[in-house]
Amino acid sequence: MKVFNTLSRQKEEFVPLQEGKVSMYVCGPTVYNLIHIGNARPMIVFDTARRYMEHKGYAVNYVSNFTDVDDKIIKKANEEGVEPSVISERYIEECKKDMKALNVKEATTHPKATEEIGGMIDMIQTLIDKDHAYVAQDGTVYYKTRSFKEYGKLSHKNLDDLRSGGRSLLVSGEDQKQDPLDFVLWKPKKEGEPYWESPWCEGRPGWHIECSVMSKKYLGEEIDIHAGGEDLIFPHHENEIAQSEAANGKEFAKYWLHNGFLNIDNKKMSKSLGNFFTVRDISEKYDLQVLRFFMLSAHYRSPLNFSADLMEAAKNGLDRIVTSVANLNYLLENAADGEAAEKEQTLLKEAEGYITKFDEAMDDDFNTADAVSAIFELVKFANTNASGASSKAFIQALKDEIVMLSDICGLIVDKKEEILDTEIEALIQERQEARKAKNFARADEIRDTLAAQGIILEDTREGVKWKRA
Ligand code: AMP
Ligand code: ZN
Repeated sequence: MKVFNTLSRQKEEFVPLQEGKVSMYVCGPTVYNLIHIGNARPMIVFDTARRYMEHKGYAVNYVSNFTDVDDKIIKKANEEGVEPSVISERYIEECKKDMKALNVKEATTHPKATEEIGGMIDMIQTLIDKDHAYVAQDGTVYYKTRSFKEYGKLSHKNLDDLRSGGRSLLVSGEDQKQDPLDFVLWKPKKEGEPYWESPWCEGRPGWHIECSVMSKKYLGEEIDIHAGGEDLIFPHHENEIAQSEAANGKEFAKYWLHNGFLNIDNKKMSKSLGNFFTVRDISEKYDLQVLRFFMLSAHYRSPLNFSADLMEAAKNGLDRIVTSVANLNYLLENAADGEAAEKEQTLLKEAEGYITKFDEAMDDDFNTADAVSAIFELVKFANTNASGASSKAFIQALKDEIVMLSDICGLIVDKKEEILDTEIEALIQERQEARKAKNFARADEIRDTLAAQGIILEDTREGVKWKRA
């Protein structure tokens, strides 16, 4: 398997640090709002990469953080007159719902910045002790970029240009910086902001340190893959490398993977530009499987333009697969038992060619666009060759192959496997009874089971209502 490494700017053979295991860290969202579909792109594409590696037999330890202390969260909290944690907890829950509906697998660990402050203080102290950081008069701690000889190795930027450009860009309060590229590790509290005790001042961490700390804590000092959107290459990931490698004395991550931007009218979709759709907006019009399929129709590194036409095309594409599987289910119900006949065996060999094609595409830096084409070819093959005269074994084999490849892409195409309305209602009934009997553990378990199937419960005055996410 080859992956494109931003560090070397080329495709490299993927060799994990430990045989059979992959450690992977994906920078997660800042939780002050519902996620937009641009934020969903790294979630979907790196979840697909994870699924493919798991399919190949790797045990993937997947960590993705929530940034829950940040200016935007604090601003929103002040506007609403609540604690910042009320805002961040609210949007973490909403984000998790969106991820479920997008069929993004739960991370092995989902750490939150505010729960890792102790580890951040420790790493900052190590950086000070090793002379990679300094404390300014007001208690701000800065990273000393000049002390890290390899600073700039990920972004391949001309640092001297950045430095001279940066001098005039110094904002007020940053005049204690020794170098324009130095960045904040810890900053003093301001009125109305959450803060923590530290050896330097009461304050809070800069943004970059959290990922260095969480990655080390949950995955170790050296990891296989670090990923995120391409806007994170500089300065976020560059700074993470500087922090981790200076503190630990080891190479931080072997492979750096970055997704291209999701654009709208060929402009970057972002909250600050106001040209965005939330995942929730899209869910009002489409099953979110369509959004997932849309994202996978392009290579993850390419820019992708969002448009109504492309979403319609994605809907039709996904429908083709779902309809084919439904048709195979129908044929299965009516097919005669028995092994695949000789001619069918030959056809199944031919069908394996599409699986090979799929694997080759995914082995080539997770080329989901070509992988999806291979699924379409398999679907066409199944539509042409399975009929009322086919054996059960043959139809089942074709169906299993389509479902397996779709599943690697995180696409649910066998609607028969979906939980039925009657089953949902029975579980809700059982949950009500468990609650009455004060068996909250069982009640929560049922809610989680349903949530895992994308069923959202709502307690209303008229009783429990449910909907599919
Ligand atoms: P943020 O909450 O802005 O830190 O973003 C969370 C993740 O979403 C990061 O990996 C970003 O790079 C990514 N991201 C944000 N906007 C877009 C976009 N328009 N297209 C693709 N990825 C994005
Ligand atoms: Zn990060």
